[in-house]
Amino acid sequence: MAGPERFTRFETLDVRFPTSRHLDGSDAMNPDPDYSAAYLVLGTDDPRSPEGHGFAFTIGRGNDVQVAAIKALAGHVLGRDVEEVLGDMGATWRSFADDSQLRWLGPEKGVMHMAVSAVVNALWDLKAKRAGLPLWDLLSRMSPEELVALVDFRYLTDALTPEDALELLRAAVPGRARRRAELLREGYPAYTTTPGWLGYSDEKLVRLAREAVAQGFRQIKLKVGADVDDDVRRMRLARAAVGPDVRIAVDANQRWDVGPAVEWIRALAPHDPWWVEEPTSPDDVLGHAAIRRAVAPVKIATGEHAHNRVVFKQLLQAGSLDVVQIDAARVAGVNENVAILLLAAKFGVPVCPHAGGVGLCELVQHLSMFDFVALTGTTEDRVVEHVDHLHEHFVDPVRLSRGNYLAPTAPGYSAEIRRESLLRHVFPGGAEWAGVPVAVPSPAGPHAEEVAR
Ligand SMILES: [Mg+2]
Repeated sequence: MAGPERFTRFETLDVRFPTSRHLDGSDAMNPDPDYSAAYLVLGTDDPRSPEGHGFAFTIGRGNDVQVAAIKALAGHVLGRDVEEVLGDMGATWRSFADDSQLRWLGPEKGVMHMAVSAVVNALWDLKAKRAGLPLWDLLSRMSPEELVALVDFRYLTDALTPEDALELLRAAVPGRARRRAELLREGYPAYTTTPGWLGYSDEKLVRLAREAVAQGFRQIKLKVGADVDDDVRRMRLARAAVGPDVRIAVDANQRWDVGPAVEWIRALAPHDPWWVEEPTSPDDVLGHAAIRRAVAPVKIATGEHAHNRVVFKQLLQAGSLDVVQIDAARVAGVNENVAILLLAAKFGVPVCPHAGGVGLCELVQHLSMFDFVALTGTTEDRVVEHVDHLHEHFVDPVRLSRGNYLAPTAPGYSAEIRRESLLRHVFPGGAEWAGVPVAVPSPAGPHAEEVAR
């Protein structure tokens, strides 16, 4: 082949799963979710190279906008030298985040930042496949200096400097091999949200909660926030079903103002919630801090909708949370999540990633495993969320055993959806959607009115 290998393929797909048909994924703010992936496939002009796969997770119509945002980044990849792009992922990350025209849409937040995550994660998938390693292992074999070079420390240095980060990472180097072996043997702790969707009946909640414990989960999570009496009843039923020793987290999905959050959490407190997640607006750093002070010792968790590393810095500085919840595809991909893991480590706050959705479990397990092997070196009070749907569509789906995620061994970031699943769920032309009425929001109210296509 003449000249360097170059990127020649930047294929976007609008992929949607009709999860609203069974209320899977229903919560206080999302009564009718159709879990969706704004999906990206990267390829090069070398036919021997694997593909890089990445995506942003959205819900239904959000995918219209998200796919367009990913397409806007194609010019940053197509035609570029593959080795140059993958060889300095720190510089590559900054080249996306610093696009002066697209940056105006954020900066570093929302749809455009999620689009950057899809591209960055696809590049990491490709880099790990070409290295022949699962992503967690690739990251865990990088030197502290290489890892620090991935991070954009802009706006962080009042809380975390490159020197701080190096110190944290160097301290973990001696135990890496032992922890890698332990991870491969034992896996990484998980918890399950499967029993707790808001649309489920009491009977289904109790049955699924019991099943979760029988499967070995030591923590479950319930969605709350629609009706306080319902929530107290469901919490009581769940507690009776799982016993006193299994942790029950609750998730309000941003439902409350600060005052009502405090009252609602106090009503649930007698049933011993392990943490309360997203009690209020994800942007309200000081509101979270006020709630946390008022309901202590109940723990506050948040972060799945935090825009970027700067918001995480503030949440940590303000004492707003007890649990940091990273999301693999909301902030700008692997690089920014390494920054957030470093911040959490500096502040000594455990990270319990958000997952579920489409493929978020597949991705984020790698980040927690990297954290265990090469950064904090512990799994104490750390769990990765697990939801048991849509995994069958992935080439390398998550594997669980006795309530633990087993470490992926296939090269890559576990991001790849099977080609037949992609084509079947492409919206609106895929077979899964053919002939299905398109739900359009009614101006008269929140309920969808159906129109035939
Ligand atoms: Mg949540």
